[in-house]
Amino acid sequence: MKQCTKCKMISPRDNFVGDKNRPDGKYPICKDCRSRYYHANRDRVIRQAQEYRKRPGIHAQIQVWHKQYADRRFFYKRSANLKLRANGDSATYLELARLWKQQRGICPLTGRRLTRDNSQLDHVVPLVNGGRSTVSNLRWVHRDVNYAKRDLSDAAFIDLCRVVAARHPLT
Ligand SMILES: [Zn+2]
Repeated sequence: MKQCTKCKMISPRDNFVGDKNRPDGKYPICKDCRSRYYHANRDRVIRQAQEYRKRPGIHAQIQVWHKQYADRRFFYKRSANLKLRANGDSATYLELARLWKQQRGICPLTGRRLTRDNSQLDHVVPLVNGGRSTVSNLRWVHRDVNYAKRDLSDAAFIDLCRVVAARHPLT
């Protein structure tokens, strides 16, 4: 038998849920009191949520939050991908977001406007040449140019572009 600390009733130990952190292995409040407490609070929470949804302008506010969350998710994901291939430290999502802002969403190689869909992270010193994945060795570039450049240095890549362009002059 065990006494409930809330209703003070003495009842069989089966009327108390197990709790490994208690000396006697049982939660001090009986199942009935727990259930009553739970339902009282559930009603309050549901009522608050209903009132919240009726607040003027709340839908516009929720859309703003969704957009902010989408942004954060984008940088989270890129930071996680970066970490997988990094040898050592890699840039955090906040650093990647700051880098995007510093570049004003522009690809430094092509001058093209970057979007969430067409952008990739370029290692200035490529990973294969021992480059790090820290923010000082990274920049956002357009996907097309990142595919074309691959592991070339800027100088080698620009030379290659000149060779191709010279062979195919504007007509
Ligand atoms: Zn009780």
